[in-house]
Amino acid sequence: MVEVTILGTSSMVPTKDRNVQAFYLEFEGEGMLFDCGEGTQRQMNIAGISRGKVRRIFITHWHGDHVAGIIGLIQTIGNSNYTDTLHIYGPPGTKEHMFHMMNATIFENKVDIDVHEVHPRFGEEFLVVDSEKYKVTCIPLDHSVPSLGYAWYEKERTRVDMAACKRLGLTEGPLIGKLSRGQPVTLEGKAIKPEDVTYRTAGKKIAIFGDTQPVPELIQLARDADLVICEATYNSDLEDKAAEFKHMTGAQAAMVAQRAEARKLILTHFSQRYLSVEQTLDEARAVFPNTEAAFDLMKITV
Ligand SMILES: [Zn+2]
Ligand SMILES: [Zn+2]
Repeated sequence: MVEVTILGTSSMVPTKDRNVQAFYLEFEGEGMLFDCGEGTQRQMNIAGISRGKVRRIFITHWHGDHVAGIIGLIQTIGNSNYTDTLHIYGPPGTKEHMFHMMNATIFENKVDIDVHEVHPRFGEEFLVVDSEKYKVTCIPLDHSVPSLGYAWYEKERTRVDMAACKRLGLTEGPLIGKLSRGQPVTLEGKAIKPEDVTYRTAGKKIAIFGDTQPVPELIQLARDADLVICEATYNSDLEDKAAEFKHMTGAQAAMVAQRAEARKLILTHFSQRYLSVEQTLDEARAVFPNTEAAFDLMKITV
C-alpha cells in the first residue's frame, strides 16, 4: 500500500487555503518528498507526518514555489536523531543550487546529504532510484527552466496463496516464508515448490509531474499509472497564457491521463486567481472522468 499526502496545491504563492508545492509519498515506512516548497514542514506537522521519515527528496525544478522549504527541513531533521543519508535528486543545476541553499543561512549541518543531479536526454525515461521494492524514473519536461516528471513504481511482488497452502497442509510460518522468498521446502517428505503456493502481482505506479507545457513525454511517463498528479494552473479560456508561461490547463492534464490510460488523475498547482477550481475540474472531467482537484492535506491510498 502506498499513501500519498498532498501538502501544497497553489502555484507560485501560498494563499489562505493553499500552500505551495510538495507531495509526500510513504511506502513501507519510508518517506519520500516530491518538491518541498516553503511551509512544507508545517504542512507535514498538520498532516501528522514525521519529518524524520523522509529519506529522499525528488525536485522537479528549481522555481521557489517547489524548493524554498528544503533548507528549513534539513535544519530541523538535523536537530532530531536522524542518522540516515538524505538523498536529494534534481535536474541539471541541482548541485549548484543545493550548494547555495546550504550556505544561505548560518547553521551547523548535521545531516549526511547526497545530492544526485540527473541529466536525462529528452524522450528518455531515466532510472533515478532502483531499490529492492520500488524504483523511480524521471523524464525531462518543457518548462521555462529544466523541469522533470517522476514515476514511482512498486516492483512486482510475490504473494502467497493461503488457500493453496492449506490444501497442501502447509501451516508453518517459517516454511511459508521460505516459499515466498522463492525457496523450495519439504513437508513430511514431500517437496513443495514456490510456484505451487505463490503468485506474482503487478506493483502500483504513480506519476508526479513538475511544471510543464503539454508534451508527449507526459503520456509516456503516465502510461498505465494508477495515479497521475499533474499541474493544472489555468482554465481552458487561458490556454494561450498557459502556453506563454509553459504551464497546463486542467483539460490538457486530463488529455494526458486519458491517452496514457491512467486510472486516476489529481489536478494541482492552481493559479491564485481562482477562488474556486470547480471550472478547472469540470473541464478536466469532460475529458477524463476519474479526476479530482487536489486540496491541501488530501490523502490518496493507492
Ligand atoms: Zn510552480
Ligand atoms: Zn515552475
